[in-house]
Amino acid sequence: MSDKQKNEIIDNLAQRLQEYVLIILKEYADVINPDDIIRLKKINNYKDEIKITDTGTITCLVTPDKKMLFPESVNKILNIVKRIPGSGMKKNHKSYNEDNIIINNNTFETYMKHTFLKGNDVKEFYEENLLHESMHFCGAGGAGPLLEGLTEHRTRELAKKYNLKTTGCGYPKEVKIVDELQQIFGEKFMSMYLFNSGGVKSTMYLIENYGVEALHFFENVEKSMSDEFKNKYYDKTMNFKGLLAPIKKAKAYSELKYKDVYNMIDDYKKTLIGKNINEHVKKDDYEEQPENNDNIQVDIQISNGKEIKKVLQVHNSYNKDDMKDSRGVRK
Ligand SMILES: [Zn+2]
Repeated sequence: MSDKQKNEIIDNLAQRLQEYVLIILKEYADVINPDDIIRLKKINNYKDEIKITDTGTITCLVTPDKKMLFPESVNKILNIVKRIPGSGMKKNHKSYNEDNIIINNNTFETYMKHTFLKGNDVKEFYEENLLHESMHFCGAGGAGPLLEGLTEHRTRELAKKYNLKTTGCGYPKEVKIVDELQQIFGEKFMSMYLFNSGGVKSTMYLIENYGVEALHFFENVEKSMSDEFKNKYYDKTMNFKGLLAPIKKAKAYSELKYKDVYNMIDDYKKTLIGKNINEHVKKDDYEEQPENNDNIQVDIQISNGKEIKKVLQVHNSYNKDDMKDSRGVRK
């Protein structure tokens, strides 16, 4: 890829990233960590946050210091794919519709087929992956299958609500489990957990609203998912490379069943009989005033599903205790 081509693509991604960050701040201002909000507020040029580089994989990612990396090797692969007869035969192909954008069975294999049928170039490939990575960029946790499933669940919700590009593929089994958990614990806790990565704030919220058994249940689900994902998928596939990697990965992914997790969910639901599960969910009322709401004001307007005029004001008067993690150490 030439430097000129890279620059043009980064320009476009930076513009979109800035729009996505505003949307994510608007939707999750009350649960995003204050230090992440401060970091986001300080960004002058979004182009500095994005790199196209050889990552050794075809996966887009956000590094621990919150830089977005887009894999250069995708360009080579897509140039080969484009030469296969039939590529681009369905220019408007979508791997989902409005009804199944959130819950579906689309895997990475589905996504590669979509890429082939639509004849995606590298720019489109990056664009369709940007929203999920933007969630991580704003502080959504990503270590492990529960947090990835939750990130993807929220990505799909935003794509649906704001008509944004996304793959609609990836982590389908984890997304389904997240949906089950969300029916039990509600949206607010799940969003809190996502941006707090299970830290002290979401833990206290869970105990206060649902009791200590809920915490044990949630931790067991998280651990069971992580174990199965690591043993049956991650450890096996981490060295898969090249054109056939997505096919091999899809096969390994099909081995994931999360049977223990579903048993745990069934057992936990039984303990709620007589306790009225809806009473729990009702406590998650997004209308209630978030603690730090007066610190954040985001106004957003979207026209043509794309252009955004924004006013973003974030003040720095945060409660100091919010900046500490569970050990009382400043992050
Ligand atoms: Zn992710």
